[in-house]
Amino acid sequence: MNSSTAPILIAGAGLAGALLAAQLSGQGHRVTLVERRGDMRREQIAVGRSINLALAERGWEGLRRAGAVELVRSYALPMRGRMVHDRDGECQFQVYGLKPNEVIWSVHRGRLNQTLIDVAADAGATLRFNARLDRVDFDGRQAHFVDELDGSEFELEFSVLIGADGAGSAVRAAMEAEQPLGQRTDFLDHGYKELTIPPRADGSPAMDVAALHIWPRGSYMLIALPNPDATFTATLFLPNEGECSFARFADVGAARRFFETEFADALALIPDFDEQYQRNPVGLLGTLRCPHWHRGDRALLIGDAAHAIVPFHGQGMNCAFEDCVALQDLIAECTDQGQTRWPEVFERFDAERRPNAHAIAEMALENYLEMRDAVADPRYQLRRQLELELARRVPDRFMPRYSMVMFSSVPYAVARARGEQQLELLKELTAGKDRFDEIDLDAAVDRVHERMTPLPA
Ligand SMILES: Cc1cc2nc3c(=O)[nH]c(=O)nc-3n(C[C@H](O)[C@H](O)[C@H](O)COP(=O)(O)OP(=O)(O)OC[C@H]3O[C@@H](n4cnc5c(N)ncnc54)[C@H](O)[C@@H]3O)c2cc1C
Repeated sequence: MNSSTAPILIAGAGLAGALLAAQLSGQGHRVTLVERRGDMRREQIAVGRSINLALAERGWEGLRRAGAVELVRSYALPMRGRMVHDRDGECQFQVYGLKPNEVIWSVHRGRLNQTLIDVAADAGATLRFNARLDRVDFDGRQAHFVDELDGSEFELEFSVLIGADGAGSAVRAAMEAEQPLGQRTDFLDHGYKELTIPPRADGSPAMDVAALHIWPRGSYMLIALPNPDATFTATLFLPNEGECSFARFADVGAARRFFETEFADALALIPDFDEQYQRNPVGLLGTLRCPHWHRGDRALLIGDAAHAIVPFHGQGMNCAFEDCVALQDLIAECTDQGQTRWPEVFERFDAERRPNAHAIAEMALENYLEMRDAVADPRYQLRRQLELELARRVPDRFMPRYSMVMFSSVPYAVARARGEQQLELLKELTAGKDRFDEIDLDAAVDRVHERMTPLPA
């Protein structure tokens, strides 16, 4: 087999790898998709990390490209806004967007991954499970695998190797082994623990399923997303060390007392809190910064393998799916008569995606502060009310940053830059004001026209 007849080899049949395999196979490319774990469509496999995920517009675009929208829509749950819970159990609903389609969707990670593997198989990709990528001979275009069931080793040839093997990527490690990449992971000093909120005794959901629930408490928070089986997956984000921390609440009695003070209404919905708290691990969170995503014309990293981020904007998977869309488009643009100019594809992918990956990594970190703290602040709420009003009045020039990230495909870097300009404007317009009716809206609209250029189409 020579390099042009060998398949595109994708390491990792997680969310990005399976989607990319479906997209490229659907376009007639020969693709082999190789996964370390067993086939989750047939075996019970721990999916790792979060049980469910927030899916937004960029993610849907990836699914559209793979023809998977209807399949996923059948089990995705729309969340129209945030339900903010205070310490007394009082709730305030904060709508996410203005239009009916401006919602985010809660999807089950395992089910979504199974769907994508099915779609990739139907599109013609060759799948191999229980095969762990171990090392790579880039010059010889050969990847070495270990069979996880019997320990045997085997090789697969590739035309190009796509590393979609997550934050601990073996492809990235193989690139690093050849030449230092200058990569760095900045771990957050906060971790997370998941807890399941069961349905009520009559089988109905214990809270409003059309919302993402948040218990903002300043330096930490609890959130919960709905599942189709009427449960919610709650996630506690807390410092790892210190006064209020996982270390301090290592003892379940201390954790229970903490919940009684801070999240009493949530605690009341989790009858087996003690068992769950003791059983469920604390997960690490971090931002991967890797200055090199490709190795010549042989290998490219995508998704978390290239740019893992913290989960506070619910965009890691959405960004990974946007990588797949960008890569699919570049491959189409750079392919003539069956020959793909891979160096050009990889260079352009890097140039296009890197500023955007950087921007969403920063916005994800910033959004932790917004979620755990600002949403409960009256000044934030006043600015939020004004930004929705300006978006209603001047939709071609003003879109809240949250909406640009979640409900549009405006590049992340543009969303971040415009978001900063808009925040300055909102601060000026609300300075010295306590109530919405004190703001001169006509003057505010004039300022938007003066200061903001039209949004990109
Ligand atoms: C707590 C938490 C909550 C999150 N919530 C959201 C959210 O709401 N919305 C959102 O968009 N994102 C969210 N994310 C981020 C999201 O999980 C990731 O961005 C996404 O999973 C990245 O997909 P991926 O395919 O790049 O990597 P992964 O999903 O990690 O897939 C990598 C795959 O590669 C396989 N693999 C690994 N090593 C090898 C090897 N050596 N050989 C072969 N296969 C291998 C793995 O088994 C896995 O199947 C969250 C993350 C966390 C931690």
